[in-house]
Amino acid sequence: MNTLPRILVVDDEMGIREGCKRALLKEGYEIDDAENGSVGLQKVKKDSYDLILVDLIMPGIAGLDLIQKVHKIDPEVILVVITGYATIDTAVEATKRGAYDYLPKPFTPEALTAVVKRGLEKRLLRLEAQKLHAEREHRLLELASEQSRLHTIIGCMADGVMVTNLEGQLVLWNASFIKMLKLHDIDVPGKPLEQYVKNKPIVESIQEVLTSKDKDFSMVSREIQIDDQGTVLMANIAPVRDEEGKILGAVTVLRDITKLKEIDKIKSQFVSMVTHELRAPLAAIEGWLELVISDEAGGDEKQKLKWLSRSKERTHSLLALVNDLLEINRMEAGKVAQKMEIVQISDIIKKIIDFSRPELDKQKISVDFKLSDKLPAVQADVRDMEKLFTNLINNAIKYNIVSGSIILESAVDKNYVCFRAKDTGIGISKDSLPHIFDDFFRVSDEKTKKITGTGLGLTIAKKIVDSHFGRIEVESQLGKGSTFSVFLPRMRRKNRKEIVK
Ligand code: ADP
Repeated sequence: MNTLPRILVVDDEMGIREGCKRALLKEGYEIDDAENGSVGLQKVKKDSYDLILVDLIMPGIAGLDLIQKVHKIDPEVILVVITGYATIDTAVEATKRGAYDYLPKPFTPEALTAVVKRGLEKRLLRLEAQKLHAEREHRLLELASEQSRLHTIIGCMADGVMVTNLEGQLVLWNASFIKMLKLHDIDVPGKPLEQYVKNKPIVESIQEVLTSKDKDFSMVSREIQIDDQGTVLMANIAPVRDEEGKILGAVTVLRDITKLKEIDKIKSQFVSMVTHELRAPLAAIEGWLELVISDEAGGDEKQKLKWLSRSKERTHSLLALVNDLLEINRMEAGKVAQKMEIVQISDIIKKIIDFSRPELDKQKISVDFKLSDKLPAVQADVRDMEKLFTNLINNAIKYNIVSGSIILESAVDKNYVCFRAKDTGIGISKDSLPHIFDDFFRVSDEKTKKITGTGLGLTIAKKIVDSHFGRIEVESQLGKGSTFSVFLPRMRRKNRKEIVK
């Protein structure tokens, strides 16, 4: 209590009231008085007091009733009964109704101050206990809400999280952990880890963490194979320590790295394919140059020229390969900023045919240009379309027969504009057909042996079509010919307006 203790004396005898006032003022208390129960009650309603001295026998509200009423208003106030008719029974009754102590009349100032002092000490203790109780309740509430916050955070994490104590019992876990390890739901904390987690590497790593004596030990990381479907998890297991660094338990965090692993595998496969593709022509070039340098041909200039021109041919293929690789790399890295515009594909195809005229004439290949000039325009990147149809038309020429033909057709349906390149060439076998769009895939037989290529032309074609939300299809018959069909989405009216603007 920071302010002076406040005491109210309720007694119908003025002498008693004055006597109490005198004695208590000396003690440094603040005193107020009331001449009967009703006035006393009004004052309690208006003000707050630390201690009330109540006469038992008063006109109006009797002391015992007053005690009850006052307690209803302020349950913490200390009530001391004073009366001249002190009996054990009334004392017991008064205590039952909430009085703290009993002071029989007549009393000395010392007796009065002693009982008041005791009563005030009691009140102080009571208030102190109440404060502590409230603080504890508050802390418990905070702890509970802290825990529920923690549970919510851990619960919505995509990574699997699990905490074990020093005895290897499960303390905390989230739904992702259960799902990743394909566990039955764990009902309550405190169960031994091994009862649920059967994965040996995880259990062993947790044990390793829990029994570590090394103060600087911070984490065990392990890649874990979970099933036959190739699911790979990365488990990071770290000790949980107290302020002094003593290990209290372990926290295990699981991350699904299956996709990353797949990408990694594809990447290294690609690198090994590229190096393989580059090695063969480079070795050939090196061999021919070696022959020229070591003057293997003696004075035969013609022979030397032959070797040099072979080297040049292979260098040309190497350059084509590198260019195709750069194209793929750029497309995959998203570096090619597509410039989408309204494109008339038939115009592009016409230009490619004109450009290929010398080769067509050389092979005596006829072109039947059946593309309608009323085709709906498509929205596409011009450079991509040139690359796509150049690859398809070049193949229709390369893999054709002398005096063969190429038919270029179009078709339209509700959603797509379709462009077809039919050739009367060597065709593709049923076995090869499913691999035709794979990186570096080339049919290698007697007929294709002499035809140069990188095996990336159709890979690039497919990537371009995919990036335009279209599709590419192939039909082929060995020895008869092949048909490549490109489907590109028709432009919606709304889009058209937006682009024209
Ligand atoms: P390449 O640079 O070898 O032509 P592509 O990716 O363009 O690479 O084609 C892959 C393979 O598919 C070719 O090596 C060839 O065997 C086959 N191919 C592609 N187009 C045709 C076609 N029109 N007729 C027959 N075979 C084809």
